[in-house]
This record gives sequence, C-alpha cells and structure tokens, in this order.
Amino acid sequence: MKYSRQRELILKTLRENPVHPTADFVYELLKKELPSISLATVYRNLNQLAENGIINKISGLDGSVHFDHSIHPHYHFICTKCNKVYDVPYEVAPNPAEKLYEQTGLTAESCDVSFKGICKECRKNFN
Ligand SMILES: [Zn+2]
Ligand SMILES: [Zn+2]
Repeated sequence: MKYSRQRELILKTLRENPVHPTADFVYELLKKELPSISLATVYRNLNQLAENGIINKISGLDGSVHFDHSIHPHYHFICTKCNKVYDVPYEVAPNPAEKLYEQTGLTAESCDVSFKGICKECRKNFN
C-alpha cells in the first residue's frame, strides 16, 4: 500500500477512538483537521486498510459498518442506546471454534459473537 497522509490520519483517528466508529464518524472527526477530505475518501481508505488486514471491518452489529483498530481476537458489545461498540476480551468465550468441533464435529471458518445491551455509561445516565 502506498503511503498517504490521509490514510495515516484516518488510522490515527481510529486508534484514538476505540469505540469502533463508522466511516461517517471518522469523517466528522477528520473534517476538523482536514477540511478538504471527502466522505468517499474516508470510505475508500478504511476499506483498503481493512482489505490489507491493518484494521478490522465489522458488519452486522446494527446495520452500519464499524471499523476496529484491533485485529486481535476479541468480541464486541454493542450498546442499544448509544450504539457505541465496546471490546469484550476473548477470554469471555475462548476458542469457540475448537469447542464447536469437539461437541459437533463441525469445522468453523469464522465465528461472529456479539453482545447487545446497555453500556455502563448509559446505565449511569438512566438511573
Ligand atoms: Zn451506551
Ligand atoms: Zn473491537
């Protein structure tokens, strides 16, 4: 992948906002620093970063595509109130594919585990 300052900034924004932002969210933040950037550029760069395995693309959480700076195995918790996505440690349910194989003989190529609920922040404001 060619070096691009825009891409560097997109990646930096993603790392500084570990709530798994959508492309629109990244765009809103970047606009302040880089007023000339377009949403299409943000989309294209995020997709390229994901294709190159530098970041993770998560779909199927709430209908929009979120981007994750972490490519290590972990799960996600999505808050149904604020739509922020939090990381859940892999240790919560380690090696699900292995357990699946042991119990059913099925070999999984991928496994999407996600949790839904109200995050700590929203729970605090709710009470
Ligand atoms: Zn929340
Ligand atoms: Zn994550």
